[in-house]
Amino acid sequence: MADAAAKRKCKGADCDKDAGTMVCPKCRDLGVDSYFCSQDCFTRNWSTHKAVHKKQSNLLANLLAPKVTAKPDPDTGLYNPFPTFSFTGPLRPVYPLSERREVPKSIPHPDYWKDGQPRSEQAWRARHKIEILDKDQQEGMRKVCRLGREVLDIAAAAIKPGVTTDYIDKIVHEACLERNSYPSPLNYVNFPKSVCTSLNEVICHGIPDQRPLEDGDIVNIDVTLYHGGFHGDLNETYYVGDKAKADPESVRVVETARECLDEAIKLVKPGALFREYGNVIEKHAKSKKCSVIRTYCGHGINSLFHCEPNIPHYAKNKAVGAAKPGMCFTIEPMIALGSYRDRTWPDDWTSVTIDGKRTAQFEHTLLVTEDGVEILTARTSTSPGGPIPMPIESNGEVKAEA
Ligand SMILES: [Zn+2]
Ligand SMILES: [Zn+2]
Repeated sequence: MADAAAKRKCKGADCDKDAGTMVCPKCRDLGVDSYFCSQDCFTRNWSTHKAVHKKQSNLLANLLAPKVTAKPDPDTGLYNPFPTFSFTGPLRPVYPLSERREVPKSIPHPDYWKDGQPRSEQAWRARHKIEILDKDQQEGMRKVCRLGREVLDIAAAAIKPGVTTDYIDKIVHEACLERNSYPSPLNYVNFPKSVCTSLNEVICHGIPDQRPLEDGDIVNIDVTLYHGGFHGDLNETYYVGDKAKADPESVRVVETARECLDEAIKLVKPGALFREYGNVIEKHAKSKKCSVIRTYCGHGINSLFHCEPNIPHYAKNKAVGAAKPGMCFTIEPMIALGSYRDRTWPDDWTSVTIDGKRTAQFEHTLLVTEDGVEILTARTSTSPGGPIPMPIESNGEVKAEA
């Protein structure tokens, strides 16, 4: 056995000596031993040899990554629960999810809290009627939406690189309880968490997990509260760190989504057709070279989380009906840099773009008034986030649109 080393050839490209016992430490880390005849030869050949490391680590990543990540990391206990799924972009789920968070019995719960089935919604859907809220009910919607805005602003203020989406969930959950409110997403059709956190290529319904936010991410936080018998629903997309604000593509998709919602809200008044919002949204998205997601729509909201009317965000849709005073519904366009087509992760919730490109969303709960609209979830003067200008690119040119 002792002669094995003597028969090995030195890995130095310009060297045909037998190898000694000197091994490349980087290769050893990668699980292969590369022997050299001497330290001198190793140093001389370093610039060509190091290319081997890249090849080797790519090979290892391809061969081993799914198996390795499927098992909890020995140091952190973290793992990817869907190692064989072909993800459309770079984002991965980081499990385990935290324990289910509890809501004290003293806080009124919606009907689905226990088994996940929103039975009252199912019953209403069959009737195809849009509820008109009286003054007291409108006041109830105002209240829950104002509380929802407070909770979203608290969550948004916590966004920074290094904070996990699970931590955002904890903040949202606790802020809801402090407001005597049930976090509506919790166990709605078995959604496991109290808020949706949707990063980068996630269109909507992202499940908070152990993934830390990174400088350069964009993250949507979608908050809904149930308080006083009513739901209030809103979301915004935020930039994580300065890198995201300096990335022209991220800014283009986020600001376009923000503007699409603003443009659609301008149309809302009695008599406005539900099918019109999509025309305005898609026109604006196209002018910014963005697409509109078609699978998910805005919705009626009141004592039910989701009900009639259905509000598509894409052009030439066939939605029936028109706004009347006393109706409440959301508009919540999802805008993508690439294809409008979506795919769902095996968790049955997380919706991602089919090409892995970034997407952004904004949502308000709206009340139709006698002569227009009241944005029940409107921002306040102290709300975090808000529009930013397109970044100047490093060559000094302003990107794309004027
Ligand atoms: Zn929402
Ligand atoms: Zn909604």
